[in-house]
Amino acid sequence: MTQMNDQPAQSHSLIVTIDGPAGSGKSTVARELAGRLGLDSLDTGAMYRCLTLVVIEERLDPADPAAVVRAVERHRIDFDWTRTPPEITLDGRAVDERLRQPDVNELVSRVASIPELRDLMVRAQRRIAERHPRLVTEGRDQGSVVFPDAEVRFYLDADSKVRARRRALELQASGQQVDERAILESIQSRDRLDRERSDSPLQVPDGAIRVDTGALTASQVVDELESAVRGYLVRAASGGPA
Ligand code: C5P
Repeated sequence: MTQMNDQPAQSHSLIVTIDGPAGSGKSTVARELAGRLGLDSLDTGAMYRCLTLVVIEERLDPADPAAVVRAVERHRIDFDWTRTPPEITLDGRAVDERLRQPDVNELVSRVASIPELRDLMVRAQRRIAERHPRLVTEGRDQGSVVFPDAEVRFYLDADSKVRARRRALELQASGQQVDERAILESIQSRDRLDRERSDSPLQVPDGAIRVDTGALTASQVVDELESAVRGYLVRAASGGPA
């Protein structure tokens, strides 16, 4: 994995986690927040989407976890850190656009509920944080399971109708035909699977700062998060309670 844009070595690690349901604005906000604070950013949903692409391309049955794990172990998921945001690759192939297609959306939450795969991803994410210790990482379990000791933990949420509207506008802006009702159903179905799975369900991490993004623009959300992280840094520098 190339690491040309690594931040220069800095004395303190700073892990910021952002969790929340589909369409709550995490990806946009994480990238923008990382840019403002000079941190790297990690989209862990893309990792689960990549696993899902393997399942689709190899026509595997997600109900057979052992076969899925065996297949996944034959592939290599990487990020190209020379790009901002880092670009995910599967066996060296740029797949980001492919990962956003409806077939991946439909299947990803089932694949992500396989405990053996979660275990592999949790370990991969912790290894990434060792090499990129100043990191904004977003997903469903980043503050609750992967980095429970992260310096600052956020949980973003919004009503599912607001999230569906947002997704529809994004897709329209990129010239795609949209069926907002289908988007809402897909979001609600993923919410259900993500919240009800037994391993690492989507939940508000202990000590997380909750932000309802429904009535805010992305940039207002980033303002709020940036000010919370800067507040943390000031308190940490003065030796006070974080
Ligand atoms: O964030 P994104 O919509 O790309 O995530 C796709 C799916 O990956 C989620 O619906 C969830 O099922 C799974 N996921 C997860 N844990 C993460 C990130 C994503 O289970 N940390």
